[in-house]
Amino acid sequence: MCGTGFASAERSARLKACAALRRNFPIPLGAGGTGAKPAIPHSPLYFDTHTHLPDDCTDEQAETIIGEAAVAQVPYLLLAGTSLRDCPQNLALAATHAGIYTSVGIHPLEVQDYDASIAIPQLRAWLACPHVVAIGEIGLDNHYEDSPPPALQEQAFIDQLRLAAETGTPVVIHSREAFPRCHELVGKYLPKDHPLQIHSFADGPAELEQWLKLNTIFSYNGMVTFKKAENIRETLRLVPLDRLVLETDAPYLAPVPFRGQPNASRHIPVIARRIAEERQLPLEELARLATANARRFFRV
Ligand SMILES: [Zn+2]
Repeated sequence: MCGTGFASAERSARLKACAALRRNFPIPLGAGGTGAKPAIPHSPLYFDTHTHLPDDCTDEQAETIIGEAAVAQVPYLLLAGTSLRDCPQNLALAATHAGIYTSVGIHPLEVQDYDASIAIPQLRAWLACPHVVAIGEIGLDNHYEDSPPPALQEQAFIDQLRLAAETGTPVVIHSREAFPRCHELVGKYLPKDHPLQIHSFADGPAELEQWLKLNTIFSYNGMVTFKKAENIRETLRLVPLDRLVLETDAPYLAPVPFRGQPNASRHIPVIARRIAEERQLPLEELARLATANARRFFRV
């Protein structure tokens, strides 16, 4: 039992909804599915390695988001945790849907009420669930004037890094305007070869070089399509192809031409097209590489 807190009647309703969804959107072999063939053979299949459900997302809305992603050839999603409040819904979806995985963790902007004696045992218990494949997103964020105090952010980050080291779990890093300290803490609390995903990477070539010395992958999202984001595209062109994965960070950061609208995993192909152009690769090749990198990283 993963401790998601769902009563068994509710759980069986979820499983039924899931079975209905799978009938409509068969998941290909290798994704833990039923063995049904993909809807469109030979099309690239994408992995959105970092997405969130919208606030107050109902189960029906979640099914729609997952179903629309599958239709858009995005059958693999990593629902990234940000707090003890959003993890249970992610866990329930991951437990009942082939191809859906989750990470658990407390985001640096969600640490206001952080209490290690509650948070760490809860995260440790969730790590026992087979569909929990990473700890995250965790890190440091200095972007906002009213960000939680740095000392509190650091305490939560360090505790979760220690949990990751203890359990050998891959880590999803959120580092915003915080590279030096974030990199320093990772170096101090994790073994050098510990798997790290640098999510929404937005620092420069010098920071890229530092992260590349560790066992890192880099995820790029809709920002690669933004007119003013040449700095993002600069590092995108430098990342080794075996370290590159795709993400939406939905519901934020919708790619052009959907800017200003709520983002969702169905937009991954738009992001992939731009990345393939920047890397001068056929789209199918980029999709194959990015999906293989993601599955290797999350061990799924
Ligand atoms: Zn995120």
